[in-house]
Amino acid sequence: MTALPPGSTIGIVGGGQLGRMSAMAAARLGYRSHILTPEPDSPAAQVAAAATIGAYDDAATLRAFAAAVDVITFEFENVSAAGLDLLATLKTVRPSPAILRISQDRATEKSFINAAGIATSAWLPVTDRADLRAAAASLEYPCVVKTTRLGYDGRGQAVLRSDDDVSAAWERLAPKPLIVEAFAHFTCEISVIVARGADGSAVTFDAAENQHRNHILSLTLAPARIPAALATQAQAIALRLAAALDLIGLMAVEMFVGRDGRLLVNEIAPRPHNSGHWTIDACPVSQFEMHIRAVAGLPLPPALRHADAAMRNLVGPDDFALWPTVLATPGLIPHLYGKAEARPGRKMGHVTRLFPREGLPGDADIKEGLLF
Ligand code: AMP
Repeated sequence: MTALPPGSTIGIVGGGQLGRMSAMAAARLGYRSHILTPEPDSPAAQVAAAATIGAYDDAATLRAFAAAVDVITFEFENVSAAGLDLLATLKTVRPSPAILRISQDRATEKSFINAAGIATSAWLPVTDRADLRAAAASLEYPCVVKTTRLGYDGRGQAVLRSDDDVSAAWERLAPKPLIVEAFAHFTCEISVIVARGADGSAVTFDAAENQHRNHILSLTLAPARIPAALATQAQAIALRLAAALDLIGLMAVEMFVGRDGRLLVNEIAPRPHNSGHWTIDACPVSQFEMHIRAVAGLPLPPALRHADAAMRNLVGPDDFALWPTVLATPGLIPHLYGKAEARPGRKMGHVTRLFPREGLPGDADIKEGLLF
């Protein structure tokens, strides 16, 4: 596919905030976006030229959607891979459905990462309760058991502290396929966002540091407060994985920084990522523009960062209630996703605060500056 001409339509599968911010970036590049989502009045459709409302696995819906667009991408992973396969017979889909399939299953994902010569926590697939007990014992306690599919924001996982926890975890998570992995004793969690074009050229944003609350991303700091050599190593890992996957598009790679200074990849997400929202305000080209550029076959400029940044998610009704204060606080850059109802755990928006380069203050000041 040659570069998509201005005025073309980018099909985005998924109607959430990642689709919304991708559509906004696409508009700035002169493209229209067309959203496929089962949800009426979705965050993405609110800012797009058109939407098809229907199920991700309904053939007639998929055909109508494909007929209306010039290229297709997706904004979250829990879409039907078979549906994307059908779309790929009709239009170019970037990233490829094969990459989505790998990222949708933790066992496939970790096998792929390890086969690319990249370290993860030691892990084992488990099929029954005795298997789980034996695997946990061999990996040593504590360890983490996870469903292989449809787990996000901490859903579908449990920490096993001893043999006594095995039965309860099995009861809660089985009969879904499971893996168990060694507990990563990490000093911090980081992520690197990488974009790769059809010609194999690739760029990475600076590694960012992520902190969670109730298993949901709460705070991202850019750059991550880790030694420069380690940050470079993290970027190299992201580039290597992107090449191994033959990625055309954008991907986030989440990693643990071990107490021993080793990097372990936790998971990949072949789409824009919450931990990259800071790039909208701190970079000349955001993750969303980079995503659209890669999908549209445009050149990928360097992923420069002109400021340090701290990003706080606004999650659920309590954070949403801060919105008037956010708007009244100088220096806070507000982003709201257009969701009607602030349910607990729902990402309603985010705020970013910029600092001079190498000017991130200490934890207490960062948190105060973001209204924590
Ligand atoms: P995940 O669903 O794999 O992204 O995991 C969600 C969060 O659980 C991660 O961001 C970590 O904070 C924690 N976690 C996941 N796997 C491990 C592990 N092997 N060791 C320690 N913490 C983990």
